[in-house]
Amino acid sequence: MTHPLSKKILGVKASPTITLNAKATAMIKQGLPVLSFAVGEPHFPTPQIVVDKAIESMRAGRTKYGAAGGGPELRKAIATKLERENRLKFAPEQIVVGIGAKEILFHLMLTLLNDGDEVLLPAPFWVSYADQVIAAGGVPVIVPVPDSFPANPFDIAEIEKYATPRTVAIVINSPNNPSGYVLNEGKLREIGAWLSKKDWWVISDEIYEYLSFDIEQKSLLEICPDLRDRFILINGFSKSFCMTGWRVGYGAGPQPVMNLVRSLQSHSSTCLPMFIEDASIVAINGGRELMRAEIAEMNSLRKTAIAEFEKIKGLPIVEPQGAFYVFLDLRPFMANTGRFKDTMAICEWLLNDAHVALVPGEAFGAPGFARFSYAVAEEKLREGIARIARALA
Ligand code: PMP
Ligand code: GLU
Repeated sequence: MTHPLSKKILGVKASPTITLNAKATAMIKQGLPVLSFAVGEPHFPTPQIVVDKAIESMRAGRTKYGAAGGGPELRKAIATKLERENRLKFAPEQIVVGIGAKEILFHLMLTLLNDGDEVLLPAPFWVSYADQVIAAGGVPVIVPVPDSFPANPFDIAEIEKYATPRTVAIVINSPNNPSGYVLNEGKLREIGAWLSKKDWWVISDEIYEYLSFDIEQKSLLEICPDLRDRFILINGFSKSFCMTGWRVGYGAGPQPVMNLVRSLQSHSSTCLPMFIEDASIVAINGGRELMRAEIAEMNSLRKTAIAEFEKIKGLPIVEPQGAFYVFLDLRPFMANTGRFKDTMAICEWLLNDAHVALVPGEAFGAPGFARFSYAVAEEKLREGIARIARALA
């Protein structure tokens, strides 16, 4: 007889985006002609000057433990970026750098939540928030995709219905994964005015910041500075600088919160490798300008994806303004065929029969939808959409 496993952790599912990508990769290894549009990862290489800096730094022996929460130079570079690009003032001490934004978010949930505390997650939302909340002992309160979606992507009146006296936090993510919506200044102002009347922690995941194609994505904190004492900004290098595998993300927020996030890191991953920090400084100092070509190319892929999907009859899409996903509305297809019980089943069928990997909307609290990542080479993008068109026909 062994002791029972943690009830809390038994409630956590493995990340479906990561699992699906692994499944598609395994099928490709077996020789199957699978095209994966499942994982959220820019296909461009990391900028060469960033790679060169890491190599130079490793050669110089910068291969030891760094500081928990990030070294002072990197934190200072991030503070400078937040001031230069986002007009936000954070002291370097208020910034914690971790192994991806994912780790920062995980430690943040552990820091903010007591058992039973509720966190509002307006769907569609990125898959990991809910499981991180569960792992921290909290309760993810999923606000289902409202009828007003996507016309009104963040429906305050709907969200309000799910608030309770146990609500302690809300997660906002714009540009949005999985649906590509971008909250404009007017909408941010409205959200800020609403949140000013609450006492919740506001977790603002701004990781797709550079990938807002029609308007500049402003931070909610710039628009509504009086949220400052309970606002935690999350950002990272994975999407902006095509550095998913380097695992660099950061959070900026109130000092007492960030101190605890840093402490947790000192007991888990400890720190980032120094050579990765050195390279990250080159990236963040280069800023948006360094990524100009990639951002333009991503926008062109977006336009191609929209145009190609719009040719498929009976498949409405959420037209993305940011990030690099097209959110497909499979509800009419399901109703017409009567053959599939959910989008999970459609995605399984598409993977096995049409050899295209998508992520079912269930993963994002949005049954009836599926996510297609267009951060791939144009040829693959066209072939993938053609396969979906043939399969649905
Ligand atoms: N937030 C969102 C919305 C994401 O899509 C991702 C992608 N993985 C993350 C956070 C975490 O990114 P990372 O851990 O690679 O910094
Ligand atoms: N954020 C990406 C996605 O949604 C990367 C995978 C992950 O971390 O979930 O696919």
